Amino acid sequence: MSHLDLGRGGEFDTIRQVVAALGDQADGIGGDCAFLPCGQGWMAVSTDTSVEGVHFKREWLSLTEIGWRAAAAALSDLAAVGAGEPRVLAAITSPERSEVVELMRGVGAAAEASGGVVVGGDLTRGRDLSLTLTVLGTTGRLVTRGGAQAGDEVWVTGHLGLARAAVRSWIEGREPSPAARTAFAHPESRLAAGHWLAGHGARAMIDLSDGLAGDAGHIAGASGCSVALELERLPIAPEVEAAAIRAGMPPAQFAALGGEDYELLVVVPPGFDPTGFGRETGVPLERIGRCVESPNSQPVAVMLLEGRPLVLSGFDHF
Ligand SMILES: [Mg+2]
Repeated sequence: MSHLDLGRGGEFDTIRQVVAALGDQADGIGGDCAFLPCGQGWMAVSTDTSVEGVHFKREWLSLTEIGWRAAAAALSDLAAVGAGEPRVLAAITSPERSEVVELMRGVGAAAEASGGVVVGGDLTRGRDLSLTLTVLGTTGRLVTRGGAQAGDEVWVTGHLGLARAAVRSWIEGREPSPAARTAFAHPESRLAAGHWLAGHGARAMIDLSDGLAGDAGHIAGASGCSVALELERLPIAPEVEAAAIRAGMPPAQFAALGGEDYELLVVVPPGFDPTGFGRETGVPLERIGRCVESPNSQPVAVMLLEGRPLVLSGFDHF
C-alpha cells in the first residue's frame, strides 16, 4: 500500500524521516488508521498515546476521565475511516498500580459508548502517567484523507472550540464552563457518524485532533487539492465566545485553532444530501467549505473570515 502524502510541519517532517529510514519496511504510512485486508473488507488499526503534562494535567481530570479521554481519542481515528465494532487494547504506564482500575473504567466506558470492548493491554510502572490505546475496527469501504477532489464540499460534525476553551480556562486559573469541561474530559468519538458518512459517499475524512486548520491541511496534502473553509460557517458553541474574547481573537478563529474536538471533517461530492444523518446519529452536520484546485500544485488549507484569508496553523506535537 502506498503512503499518503503528508502535510507540512515538524511532526510530519519527523514522520517523513522515519518513513525514509524504514525504506521498504514502511507500508501505507500517514493516515488516521492502517488498513489490513479482512474478509470482504478491511481491518482498520490505530494507536494513540496520551501523556500526563502533554495531553492533560491530573488536576484537570479524574482517573476515569483520563481513561475515557485517551480511549475516545484513539477511537476517533476509527471514526475517521468509517470503521466500527471497535476492539481496544490499553498499555498503561503509571507510578501507582492502584490507579489502573479507575483508568480502565474510563477506557471501558468509552469503548462501550462506541459499541466496542476491551480485549487486552499491558501495565508498566513509570514516573508519569501515560496511556497508549490501540484500536481495531472493521469497515467494508476504505475512506482515507486522500480522496478529495476540486469541486467537492467540506462538512463538519458537532461544534468546535470547546476543548480549547476548557484548556484555556484551566491555564488562566479559571474553572471551565460545564460544557467546555465535558468536551475536554468526555469527548464523544463519532463512530456512528463516520460509518453513516462512509456509507453515503464520503470521499475523504479526518478527525479533528490537531485543530481544524491543521487537519484540513492534512486532507489537502493527502488529496492534492486545496481546501477553502469559510470560518463564519463554523458551528461554534456559545461557551467558546468568552474564551475567544479573552484570547483576543474572533470565536471562529479561536475554534479553528483549537485541537482535540474529535469531530469529523468530511469531504463529499457536490449535491451531497445529509437527510437522515441527524436523525440516525444524533449529531449536527454543517457545510463549511469546499475543495478547490491548488495554486502552483501546493495543496493547502485556506481559512477565510468574511472573505479575507487568515494564516493559521494546527497543533504540533513536538
Ligand atoms: Mg486522527
